[in-house]
Amino acid sequence: MVREEIPGLGIATVYRAINDLVEEEWLKPVELPGRNNSYELSELGHHHHFICNECDKVYDLHGCPGQMKDLVPEGFKAKAHDITIYGVCSDCNEPQQEVPAGSPEQLPG
Ligand SMILES: [Zn+2]
Ligand SMILES: [Zn+2]
Ligand SMILES: [Zn+2]
Repeated sequence: MVREEIPGLGIATVYRAINDLVEEEWLKPVELPGRNNSYELSELGHHHHFICNECDKVYDLHGCPGQMKDLVPEGFKAKAHDITIYGVCSDCNEPQQEVPAGSPEQLPG
């Protein structure tokens, strides 16, 4: 077999490289709504994602509620699950205001 030489780093080369990495289980495809062809390092293991509605960043969530098998009806078989949480990340949540240190607490009453 003769390998064709592709001039430059075409997108086909990139896909081939990714495919190789997936086959060698360095990378695994990750399904993210609205995002095509996302891949992650396999060594990250099973985890879930948080998508910030503001900055559109994807954050890895380390942890899993587990017990998804209990959610499926009798006679169904759960094989995998994905959890994507949407919201606002801490960067976007706080508009980076400087909180003065030692500000007096407001006591009720
Ligand atoms: Zn954000
Ligand atoms: Zn991830
Ligand atoms: Zn999980």
